[in-house]
Amino acid sequence: MKKVIYLDNAATTRVRPEVVEAMLPYFTEHYGNPSSVYDFSTPCKKAMAHTREVIAGSLGASENEIYFTNGGTEADNWALKAAAEAYASKGKHIITTQIEHHAVLHTGQYLEKLGYEVTYLPVDENGVVSVDALKKAVRPDTILISVMFANNEIGTIEPIREIGEVAKEHGILFHTDAVQAYCHEPINVDELHIDMLSASAHKFNGPKGVGFLYIRKGLKLRSFIHGGAQERKRRAGTENVPGIVGLGKAVELSLASMKENKKKETELRDHLIHRVMTEIPYVRLNGHPSQRLSNNANFSFQFIEGESLLIMLDMAGICGSSGSACTSGSLDPSHVLLAIGLPHEIAHGSLRLTLGEETTMEDIDYTVDQLKRIVERLRSMSPLYEDFVKSREKKENQ
Ligand code: PLP
Repeated sequence: MKKVIYLDNAATTRVRPEVVEAMLPYFTEHYGNPSSVYDFSTPCKKAMAHTREVIAGSLGASENEIYFTNGGTEADNWALKAAAEAYASKGKHIITTQIEHHAVLHTGQYLEKLGYEVTYLPVDENGVVSVDALKKAVRPDTILISVMFANNEIGTIEPIREIGEVAKEHGILFHTDAVQAYCHEPINVDELHIDMLSASAHKFNGPKGVGFLYIRKGLKLRSFIHGGAQERKRRAGTENVPGIVGLGKAVELSLASMKENKKKETELRDHLIHRVMTEIPYVRLNGHPSQRLSNNANFSFQFIEGESLLIMLDMAGICGSSGSACTSGSLDPSHVLLAIGLPHEIAHGSLRLTLGEETTMEDIDYTVDQLKRIVERLRSMSPLYEDFVKSREKKENQ
């Protein structure tokens, strides 16, 4: 197999071998249903309790505030729909942002159809939500604020503490989609006044199809999936025991290496950004220059079609993304890039590269070398670029 340089870790990550190893016995040996009473299922119950304990410890929460889900999308749907329903008698106004993942945005649109009013806060050119704009948007009938911890496309980390303070001051529930941030950034739900938090294992070297929703004790949220009595009657369905074991192991390993990993990724990311910005002309860095995830770099190349860039990178063995995984393949420019004010044609020429624990300096240098070559090649075929160069030369000669 040819060598692949995988720079799409915001889409998903490689499952660590230790995680796979921890999961295997729960397919073969300990396959009992955790709801069964016999002792054969005890290892499953114990393993699930252990994961719950590890997650609770990572957030400064307690075990009975963690509810396993099948990932980030389900956790986001649950948080928004259940909070809307539970607090409808208080009001029907929800505040979120224009740059949320579709799991939140489309849920917001669904709730609008049910008669809720949703305010989608704009962001500045770096993708940061204004806390002042949030304060102005709060109304007596606001029941929920949902702001993502960090953006999946441009990596900007939002002012979560300040947002949590506003929510607390007004007695409004605060949900954060921390799918890209959990296990990458330290998070304490009490310090940040977070009432609900969504996370997904496959974003931090765990398996796909498993995640959790943190729900602060005392919140009266209905169950999202009806059926059996699993997850303390709030999320029915036989638990994905191997997945939950993998989730727990991935959290343990990520937390143990988080500091070191962040340092390494930041160095590589800054090297990538520096080389691209200094060696390729007519390029823009998207997202906040410093308040961003340590593994995220997002660029817009003028006179370039993002899809062509991705295909040519793929031919060079490099995996990147032109937007979020869910929107790639569609020709609509990313809603996040439009929200930070990019014109359509610039948004179309965007590339997201997200590093992972196995990314090396050689990978980054090879990627930048290939990018330089590909961008030059694509621009040489672009009539728009040709016109631009001609008019620039004309101006210089005047
Ligand atoms: N929220 C954000 C910010 C994401 O990046 C993603 C996945 O890309 C999701 C939610 C959905 O998570 P999952 O793939 O676990 O359903």
